[in-house]
Amino acid sequence: MIHTFHSHHRSIHIFHIALHFLLPLVVAQLFFKPEWKISYLLMMSTMLVDLDHLFADPIYNPDRCSIGFHPLHTYIPIGIYVVMSFIPFTRLIGIGLVIHMALDAVTCI
Ligand SMILES: [Zn+2]
Repeated sequence: MIHTFHSHHRSIHIFHIALHFLLPLVVAQLFFKPEWKISYLLMMSTMLVDLDHLFADPIYNPDRCSIGFHPLHTYIPIGIYVVMSFIPFTRLIGIGLVIHMALDAVTCI
């Protein structure tokens, strides 16, 4: 499927993708200072949650709202991510996932 994007539209998508990388970096720097690098890596690993897009057609559609659409972007998994952010062992993965879902949710407004 071929998409043509308005250039203004495209810059918003690039900004959105950049935020997926930048926001965890800011959180790591602000709240996990001594171990910010490993914290950032752990939060970045949560980008794998987008593998659920492989079940969708087309796989990537920047205009589509992911929340409630892709299996790992539905409400029950999101509830689990929130719980994970309060458990020390899974905290960084949980926080990374919550940030990811929050950023994806912005595109749904
Ligand atoms: Zn996503």
